[in-house]
Amino acid sequence: MADAAPLYETYMRAPLRFTRGEGVWLIAENGERYLDFAAGVAVNSLGHAHPHLVAALKDQAEKVWHLSNLYEVPGQESLGRRLTEATFADKVFFTNSGAEALECAIKTARRYHFANGHPGKFHIITFDGAFHGRTIATIAAGGQEKYIEGFGPKAPGFLKVPFGDLTAVKDAITEETAAILIEPVQGEGGIRPVPKEFMQELRQLCDEYGLLLILDEVQSGVGRTGRLFAHEWAGITPDIMAVAKGIGGGFPLGACLATNEAAAGMVAGTHGSTYGGNPLAMAVGNAVLDVVLEDGFLDHIRDVALVFRQGLAALKDRFPEIIEDVRGEGLMLGIKAKIPVADLLKAVRAEQLLAVPAGDNVLRLLPPLTVTAQEAREGLARIERAAEKLTAAKAA
Ligand SMILES: *Cc1c(COP(=O)(O)O)cnc(C)c1O
Repeated sequence: MADAAPLYETYMRAPLRFTRGEGVWLIAENGERYLDFAAGVAVNSLGHAHPHLVAALKDQAEKVWHLSNLYEVPGQESLGRRLTEATFADKVFFTNSGAEALECAIKTARRYHFANGHPGKFHIITFDGAFHGRTIATIAAGGQEKYIEGFGPKAPGFLKVPFGDLTAVKDAITEETAAILIEPVQGEGGIRPVPKEFMQELRQLCDEYGLLLILDEVQSGVGRTGRLFAHEWAGITPDIMAVAKGIGGGFPLGACLATNEAAAGMVAGTHGSTYGGNPLAMAVGNAVLDVVLEDGFLDHIRDVALVFRQGLAALKDRFPEIIEDVRGEGLMLGIKAKIPVADLLKAVRAEQLLAVPAGDNVLRLLPPLTVTAQEAREGLARIERAAEKLTAAKAA
């Protein structure tokens, strides 16, 4: 029965009801099959109902669901070990969402300076167009007025500078600066990759001024861009990194990763979470990594991404009145539209292709990482049909 009346009206939902998923497909109540290149906003990294994830969740469900962090949780130890072995990090804290992973990252950075005798160093430099979540601290970090307005005083200690402006970053550094926080590829902001050189320059600035580099890889991480984490393309490492979305494959799971040095202030009692690192989440997170860390999986992502990217570039040439630009990295792609992005989203949805709108009039294409080249071509064919119809409607 349809009855949305009891729900907060915070979301603008599409009138679609899905009851089942299979790989890159979502099946609606009425039996219609949609090609899911939204993937729950880059969350369903292995598609829907992946047999390995289903088995891991079922197996854990029959043992124990929840323990809290009053006891040792073996799944946290194994997932933590695998994450630290695969990355720059030495330490991991598990959360249930991206915003919580960012909260942990922010607290870790501030606490680092506090522990080093500099409690006044708590300011964090962030960038125009950023998105870091919807908690009181992370809306301040993102700095977007539309998310901050009406929720009381903006949490102090976040300073926003223009995207890609190194001079502005330098000018913003003071005695109070603790860290720089950036998404290697802006997601909600409109699939804006940060130039490699800029990432390298930020790393240098942090080293020079004794600041911590915090990366928000909630959307860009866990294979999405064709590397395990997007910062690897720039050949740098952060001090702290927030991860979520794809790591859980659809189960609510996030993580804050840090070096030993950066995490040194986070001693017993300084942070916690009731659910964070719960056995169900750990079983699924470990199962996601079983697949993502398999030999050849990242190659597969890069190969399919190339097919998809080239196809999108061809569509851009064919439909210059619809598509202004194609951008992104790996399977984190965006079409910058010439028409209102809401119209493009509707048009592709009419072809039973799901995508996600973003800032800067961009349509995000975030297929499951398991997508095949053939499925990518099917997606392209649907975008092509949508563009044809939009072009015809424009001419009429
Ligand atoms: C989605 C997202 C978040 C917030 O994650 P939630 O799980 O919604 O709290 C933070 N940062 C980035 C880059 C994201 O894409």
